[in-house]
Amino acid sequence: MTDSNNTEIPYGRKNPFPATVLEVQVLNGRDSIKETCHIELSLEGSGMEYVPGDVAGVLCENVEEVVEDFLSATGLDGDAVMENGVSLRDSLKTEWDITTMNPAFLKKYALLANNADLNAMLEEGDKDKISNWLWGREKRDAFLEFKPETPLSQEQVLGLLRKLAPRLYSIASSLKAHPEQVHLTVVAVEYETGGRPRMGVCSTYLCQRIAKGDKVRVFMHHNKNFNLPEDGDVPIIMVGPGTGIAPFRAFVEERVALGQKGRNWLFFGDQHLNCDFLYQLEWQKYLKSGALEKMHCAWSRDQDYKIYVQDKIRENAAEIWEWLQAGAHFYVCGDANRMAKDVHQALIDIHAEQGGMSPEDAEAAVKALQKAKRYQRDVY
Ligand code: FAD
Repeated sequence: MTDSNNTEIPYGRKNPFPATVLEVQVLNGRDSIKETCHIELSLEGSGMEYVPGDVAGVLCENVEEVVEDFLSATGLDGDAVMENGVSLRDSLKTEWDITTMNPAFLKKYALLANNADLNAMLEEGDKDKISNWLWGREKRDAFLEFKPETPLSQEQVLGLLRKLAPRLYSIASSLKAHPEQVHLTVVAVEYETGGRPRMGVCSTYLCQRIAKGDKVRVFMHHNKNFNLPEDGDVPIIMVGPGTGIAPFRAFVEERVALGQKGRNWLFFGDQHLNCDFLYQLEWQKYLKSGALEKMHCAWSRDQDYKIYVQDKIRENAAEIWEWLQAGAHFYVCGDANRMAKDVHQALIDIHAEQGGMSPEDAEAAVKALQKAKRYQRDVY
């Protein structure tokens, strides 16, 4: 690809690289309700590089049935040819976000649709009611549940849409261990609302619709706030339940490849030991070789009560405190809504209890740890 001056644009966000799929492997066992996939892509010939802690941007495509549903809900003609010679059907598949719902879309749609019920809901301004309606709904639902007064034209509908945005995934590999490759750990987002199954666009594209030999368009994105310590002797504590494990696979691979001697401690969690232990054999190998000094796992649904990584962290408070006193860096990756907040509170409590601090001083100490870049988070 070249720019307006005919200069070659390097592969990156503006010019994603068509990476060949080398592997797609389901990491969960048969009994799991989750589908988490390990995906290997070739970066050969791209010139793209990354370091552990970086993320990969992936461009994805809508599922054909979802495109057909959208065409049928809007009444548009999928065979219509666009200015660039592509059919509307193909354009909706590869270029446009036809699913993600948000308040801005609903407001813009209301102006064109002039539907009495929708206007009443928006005029009433009850934020809870509006967000309850939005939750789990897709754009097509607006067309079906709040029919427009007169059918919208293709131009009007496309004017309501945004371009399909790339999704970000934490990189699960070290280039030193896997030259010219990038690995990802992706959980398929699937749920049901209004009696209809829904699929996350990119996660199901990666887990269910690509196979070895296919091309996936990717770019690398540097994450300056989530990096291994420069000094390879510094101990690290990693907390990564679910797909939060991804960057820590990269961290340990990198430290092993560089022969670094810093101690590594991993906290992992998921639903069940027998079917949700992501990369189990690799961790066992690292524990045996000593590359991983410690690993604690929280299996939330293997007993009557829930156990999460934050519980395991609290159980190990004294030793975590010792590691921190020895200069350890503390990393958290994964769910931002609950896990990261609970782990944050556990870290404050460890400072209070083990360090004999007041709650205020403990909070300030954790803030200082963050400022010193010894407590880093990659949460989403
Ligand atoms: P979309 O089509 O974007 O749909 C997701 C939307 O569906 C949600 O925003 C929500 O509105 C809705 N939704 C989801 N679940 C439900 C439900 N139960 N009920 C109702 N509505 C629901 N993901 C990984 O799997 N692995 C990673 O390593 C990873 N790393 C990330 C790193 C960063 C820095 C960031 C920002 C995100 C990361 N993600 C990761 C998340 C990833 O980018 C995508 O957001 C995720 O895969 C979902 O994208 P999608 O296109 O499949 O879903």
